[in-house]
Amino acid sequence: MFVEIDSDSGFCFGVVTAIRKAEAELDSSGALYCLGDIVHNSDEVNRLAERGLKVITHEDLHRLHDVKVLLRAHGEPPSTYATAVANNIEIIDATCPVVLKLQQRIKQCYDATDGDRPQIVIYGKNGHAEVNGLVGQTNGEAIVIEHIDELDKVDFSRPIALYSQTTKSVEGFRDIIAEIRRRLMPGVKFESYDTICRSVANRVGKLQKFAQSHDVIIFVAGKKSSNGRVLFGHCLDVNPHTYLISNPSEFCPEWVENADSVGICGATSTPRWLMEQVKTAIENSTAASS
Ligand code: SF4
Repeated sequence: MFVEIDSDSGFCFGVVTAIRKAEAELDSSGALYCLGDIVHNSDEVNRLAERGLKVITHEDLHRLHDVKVLLRAHGEPPSTYATAVANNIEIIDATCPVVLKLQQRIKQCYDATDGDRPQIVIYGKNGHAEVNGLVGQTNGEAIVIEHIDELDKVDFSRPIALYSQTTKSVEGFRDIIAEIRRRLMPGVKFESYDTICRSVANRVGKLQKFAQSHDVIIFVAGKKSSNGRVLFGHCLDVNPHTYLISNPSEFCPEWVENADSVGICGATSTPRWLMEQVKTAIENSTAASS
């Protein structure tokens, strides 16, 4: 059986940079706090925890003083930076530059106007760390739309500025735009900004090609990864023999019993070493059954 790991799967550059920054600090001091999981993958989080990275919550941040805290690629709202200043916390800022630029654009839109400010609408996942960071740029006023049927939250008689969380799907964003245009009152201003990260969006076509080129696909992603669920869905659309696992212990040998070729792919939060472990598990299972 031929087993192949998708060369385009795995960490995006934002996650790679955040992990490098964490490892550099751990190399020199052996300990570092990280606000939230550095990546939505518990195996990678556990690997870094063994090296001294301690995940903390926002409540913990309020209690800590005089320490170093890493901010992950998702970014943070202004209130986090204010807490750090108040508590003499040194920030190691690993906010991805793509997210940072989006935060700045939303802040500029929010600050540029007051009386006639458009409704700032964010197509994204409610409560997701990146979205919290974006909403924070608007003093909590931005309207978050997760699905098209939530558009009732928007007033179509008032101007709208639409942005997207970086990891949402391009098709979903287009659907939201079309529905807003359909419901908008005549003469009302509507501007949309496609702020979807191409490091993710450009993967879909290549990933589907890869998924079609194998009998069975094993998709590796952490249970908390929303990007993982989206990319897994794209693989499943083109290959019904696609299975989602978070690590090798969840792999079922029966899935590949009759396959000549198996492809392994993952999300932007899936470490390469984990996909290698899955490859070994598949190869071991076929060796044991032959
Ligand atoms: S998905 Fe894109 S925006 Fe998000 S962390 Fe990765 S590179 Fe940055």
